[in-house]
Amino acid sequence: MDIRTVGIVGAGQMGNGIAHVFALAGFDVKMNDISEDALNKAVALIDGNLERQVSRGKVSAEDKAAAMARIRTTTNLHELGPSDLIIEAATERETVKQAIFEDLLPHIQPHTILTSNTSSISITRLASRTDRPEKFMGFHFMNPVPVMQLVELIRGIATDEPTYKALLAVVEKLGKTAASAEDFPAFIVNRILMPMINEAVYTLYEGVGSVKSIDESMKLGANHPMGPLELADFIGLDTCLAIMNVLHDGLADTKYRPCPLLTKYVEAGWLGRKTQRGFYDYRGEAPVPTR
Ligand code: NAD
Repeated sequence: MDIRTVGIVGAGQMGNGIAHVFALAGFDVKMNDISEDALNKAVALIDGNLERQVSRGKVSAEDKAAAMARIRTTTNLHELGPSDLIIEAATERETVKQAIFEDLLPHIQPHTILTSNTSSISITRLASRTDRPEKFMGFHFMNPVPVMQLVELIRGIATDEPTYKALLAVVEKLGKTAASAEDFPAFIVNRILMPMINEAVYTLYEGVGSVKSIDESMKLGANHPMGPLELADFIGLDTCLAIMNVLHDGLADTKYRPCPLLTKYVEAGWLGRKTQRGFYDYRGEAPVPTR
């Protein structure tokens, strides 16, 4: 199946990155968000990020202009109806995602493939509430999308082979690499990454180390490019907590218990870089540890 038009739901951190790489690869993109402000910010961000690629000689000025011209925005979800492929990248909450798919169903084409960029929610369960579980998949991009090479492809129990092959071809067209994962809580990357981040928060909570010593230890002692707390701020602490809850509920093992300190940061609205405060405070020139 030939995919040309792509609808993206949610213009946050992930939605704008996904729009960026699809537009650059030649797809026509329509991006939707409930917030007009989020859409305007996303377009400005894509423009800035593409400009950086131009200044580094990675993208030509003509390709940037062509990519920007392929991106349209709308606050009306129904306008995504004509798309060949829809990628849902809204807030990591199952009720939100479910409502989006329900709202979309009467407006999409018979051939439209539905996907979710969810980091952890069951693809099989999301798919079962649509009219096309065989044309539904997990399409999990990594943050920041223009930089990260991997895309996880998650087949629900009912996903058919043509849908899987169509998405493999899309990943290839994007110049990225696909890893296939079975549909179990948090798939591969987050099943391994989030318990490590959660353990770093426990290490902070129990006073074993400070934010600085924990991050430095993992950078210099384990050769990680970013410390786990710095990475958590980058991902968003609400997203990290949501994924730990999915692991805890889905696998029913106490080893996935979210750290109470992580919950407290989220309750404070200190969600990391996107709110300018998390394990670090980003409001000044350089990030300052908050503990
Ligand atoms: P975000 O908070 O930056 O953006 C979410 C966007 O969704 C917001 O702009 C919000 O206005 C919008 N939204 C909420 N409800 C909506 C609705 N009903 N219709 C349309 N738009 C709606 O979140 P994010 O970090 O971009 O995460 C989005 C998804 O991507 C989540 O499922 C998350 O698990 C997944 N994901 C995140 C990362 C990451 O590192 N942040 C990585 C991979 C996947």
